[in-house]
Amino acid sequence: MTEVQAIECPVCGYIIYSRARHDFRHCECGVCFIDGGFDCLRYGGPDLKEIRTHTLEVPLTRQELYDDWNHAQDKYGKIAPCGQPLSSADWASSPSLPSSTCAEPQS
Ligand SMILES: [Zn+2]
Repeated sequence: MTEVQAIECPVCGYIIYSRARHDFRHCECGVCFIDGGFDCLRYGGPDLKEIRTHTLEVPLTRQELYDDWNHAQDKYGKIAPCGQPLSSADWASSPSLPSSTCAEPQS
């Protein structure tokens, strides 16, 4: 498991995180970005106060995240907002989100 710092775009609701130091990502609508990987994280958007941050546990190693970025596979690093259909591959790769962002009942 790898702990990543992620941000949630207040406009499109996508959650994004940076997989490597030079992995510069935009959210789906493009107003928010995150960069810097694990060591020098920075992020931005139209209004920083509106951006919620999350700490996510991703079921991958840092190397796997790095490789995903390095090979431009882009399977990870962007998570669709709750309530939107995800492919089974997305479910497999997405960490469980904090309950504050999901309406799913606690088990
Ligand atoms: Zn967005």
